[in-house]
Order: sequence, then C-alpha cells, then structure tokens
Amino acid sequence: MINVNNVSKMYGEFSALRNVSCSIQEGEWWGIIGPNGSGKSTLLQLISGVDKITTGELKIRGHHVSKYGRRELSQMLAVLQQDGLPAISFPVRDIIEMGRFPFQDWMGRDLGDNADTIIEDIMNKLQLQELGDRPLDELSGGQRQRVALGKVMAQEPRILLLDEPTTFLDIYYQLQFMELVANWRKETGITVIAVLHDLNLAAQFCDKLLVLQEGEVVGLGTPDEILTEDNIRRVYKVDPAVVQHPKSGVPQVLLSRT
Ligand code: ADP
Ligand code: MG
Repeated sequence: MINVNNVSKMYGEFSALRNVSCSIQEGEWWGIIGPNGSGKSTLLQLISGVDKITTGELKIRGHHVSKYGRRELSQMLAVLQQDGLPAISFPVRDIIEMGRFPFQDWMGRDLGDNADTIIEDIMNKLQLQELGDRPLDELSGGQRQRVALGKVMAQEPRILLLDEPTTFLDIYYQLQFMELVANWRKETGITVIAVLHDLNLAAQFCDKLLVLQEGEVVGLGTPDEILTEDNIRRVYKVDPAVVQHPKSGVPQVLLSRT
C-alpha cells in the first residue's frame, strides 16, 4: 500500500534521509524508532505529502504521493502530532466535526449523508460524550489527545500517521491512547505508522519496527528481531537489559546505569 523506494531528503546541503526503502502493507501497524534527529518526523512528513522527497520514489496505492490532490490525500491519510490540538476554547464536539473537512463543500456542509452518526459514534467510542460541550482548553492533556484522535477518526482515513502521540501523557493515558488506536484498527483495518519514543509501547503494539539512525535505515523487522540488547546499544548508545514481558512475552527494555 505504501512503497518507499530509495528515498532521500535533503534540506539544503543537509541530508536528513538517505536511501530509505520499505513496503508497508494495508492494515499493518509500523513503528518508526531511532534517536532524536534521525529523520523519523521527516519520513512521516514525506509520506503525508506535507514535504517533498528529493530523490527516489514514494507511492501510496500505486500512485506517487505528489500526484494526489490535497482533498484526496486528506481523505486517504490523517496525521496526529505530539500535541495533537492547540488549547483553543472550542467545544469538543465542534473540534471532532472539524475532522470532516475532506468531506465538506466550500460552505462547510458535509457531503456524506451520515456525518452526525459518524460523530456520535466516535464520541461514544472515545468516551467523550460527557465532554462534548466542554471547551478544549479546559481539558487535561490526556483528554485533549483523545479529542485529537476523535478528530482524525472523523476524517475516516485509511492511513493514520502518528508522531510521538503519547509523549506528553501519563502512563494511564499513554496506554489508553494506544488501545483506542488498536481498537480503531481492528474495526476498520486502517494502516498505522507511528513514530514512538517508548520502545516498550512500540513492542506491545507494532507489527514491524523501522529503525532510523542519522537518516538511514539500520533495522527493519518484528519487535522480537529489532529490540535486542545489541541493536539498542548500537543505535541509542545505552547499555540496556532486554527481558520478555511476563504476560505477553514481547521484548521490554530496561535501562541500566553504567
Ligand atoms: P526526528 O524526528 O527523528 O527527531 P527529524 O526528522 O525531525 O528527526 O529531523 C532529522 C534531521 O533533519 C535533524 O537534524 C533536523 O534538524 C533536520 N531537519 C528537519 N526538518 C528540517 C528543515 N525543515 N530544515 C532543515 N533541517 C531540518
Ligand atoms: Mg521527530
């Protein structure tokens, strides 16, 4: 579904990505990991069409990303950042409705015939009913990120791009956010690509992990294959202990003091 073929990205003289290739199938959940500045956000921006590749080929559903129109692209993919929504004083329900923009005409009328049902369904799924009339800027960070998720759900994309979506959340909201995405994916079969700092969350939710280091792919495989002590030592320059999660068996990374 998403084919990244030998893609490089230059910012002036600076090479942010070099010869990146990967092929992401419909319905998969990929994690992109790697140290700060390794090119993770850059790769998401290229896939989302926000930024252009310098060389190589990037195709979604067989077509070059650059060939898609803005509306077409936003009906196909949605992006959610670390701090998904600015603290504005709009009511929660209105914010979620804003996610319908790819389906609205120039008057803001929804061209789909069941927009209200879609919005109510999302409010229910994300347990936002009670918050529907509350202004966004009165909510906690965890609640706000849930509204941000609701907004991208209203967009009904086939591909969800997440850039460190849980960074500002406590562990309760981190897990809740990831579970909500997992449920959404289970129901609709969307493809998820998430830049994640938390390797332990990545191991629990992702099918595949792509590791970037200084703009190059240095690892690609399942969490079991990727999250080894050797790999983490090499990429992150720390000396971890990797253990199996006692319940699920997935690799979990413990940090060790030197
Ligand atoms: P990550 O998300 O892995 O932390 P980024 O993709 O944001 O890394 O950035 C990769 C590198 O590209 C960094 O060194 C960053 O400074 C550089 N970079 C990112 N965006 C731009 C830009 N618009 N102009 C110049 N350099 C950029
Ligand atoms: Mg980043």
